Amino acid sequence: MKVGFVGLGIMGKPMCRNLIKAGHHLSVYDIVPEAVEEMARAGATAAAGAQAAAAASEITITMLPDGPDVEAAVLGPGGVLAGATPGAVIVDMSSISPLAAQKVGAACQKAGVQFLDAPVSGGEPKAVDGTLAIMVGGEKSAFDRVLPLFQSMGSSAILTGAVGAGNVTKLANQIMVACNIAAMGEALVLATKAGLDPEVVFNAVKGGLAGSAVLNAKAPMVISGNFKPGFRIRLHQKDLRNALLAAESLKVALPFTSLVQQMLVSLMNHGHGDLDHSAIVTLIEDMAQTAARKPA
Ligand code: NAD
Repeated sequence: MKVGFVGLGIMGKPMCRNLIKAGHHLSVYDIVPEAVEEMARAGATAAAGAQAAAAASEITITMLPDGPDVEAAVLGPGGVLAGATPGAVIVDMSSISPLAAQKVGAACQKAGVQFLDAPVSGGEPKAVDGTLAIMVGGEKSAFDRVLPLFQSMGSSAILTGAVGAGNVTKLANQIMVACNIAAMGEALVLATKAGLDPEVVFNAVKGGLAGSAVLNAKAPMVISGNFKPGFRIRLHQKDLRNALLAAESLKVALPFTSLVQQMLVSLMNHGHGDLDHSAIVTLIEDMAQTAARKPA
């Protein structure tokens, strides 16, 4: 298929590579020219802008930081919608607020273009492996058209409801991941200050009920003190803020989400917004004056 791809960051680049590997023809754009050049070397066609990427494509995917970026890149002048051909599908795979997804979806519908919100989970490693979990909102007919692309980037793609439902599902995912990392941080700091090797503790618990994909992915990063992103603290803060906004409008109390969101704000204020979200543990380490690292 002819596929447009806008947003070539940590996630967008490996997702593009998997689409190219599956035989699709990609037309790509990012505001960072080096990212476009890198993907052109990998076999994509460099587009002059989002509109041009969409004009060359049956399906255009966006993978951008947040809702305002998606609104600008899709609805703004020179955006994806301006270039979309009749019968095209626009698929936003960024994690944004469900309300922003519905706003973009409504504008696309008005212009006669189908829209899906299809955020992902699994982070960079699963984007590289092509094993992302993809949670989709929109019409079944659009979902069926895009499914071969989802299958090249992910190991599961589930239609969860109308436009916006993909991002509601993603918010649920992000709450579970954030609270899980914070709990892991408290557990490893306690064990380390008690004189234990955090790696031994990790190995002892990972096969039991506390074991999880989060623990397996993030505990080794904490234990080795490697906080290279991965998934940036500033992006997870954005997701929890979107979750709290949705919760407020639905009159749902989310005490744990609220606490972890404030921890993420504090880490950003300390200049750690671009570290991996596993660095939540550093705040707990500061309070305990103990780092949960493997003994030298
Ligand atoms: P990133 O910051 O690495 O990449 C975003 C890219 O978008 C950058 O290359 C930036 O230059 C580009 N961009 C911004 N505005 C643009 C515009 N108007 N037009 C064209 N390009 C533009 O972010 P990422 O980690 O790749 O995350 C992208 C989305 O995926 C976010 O919504 C994030 O929450 C979500 N996500 C990330 C991960 C992860 O582990 N990194 C996992 C799941 C979901």
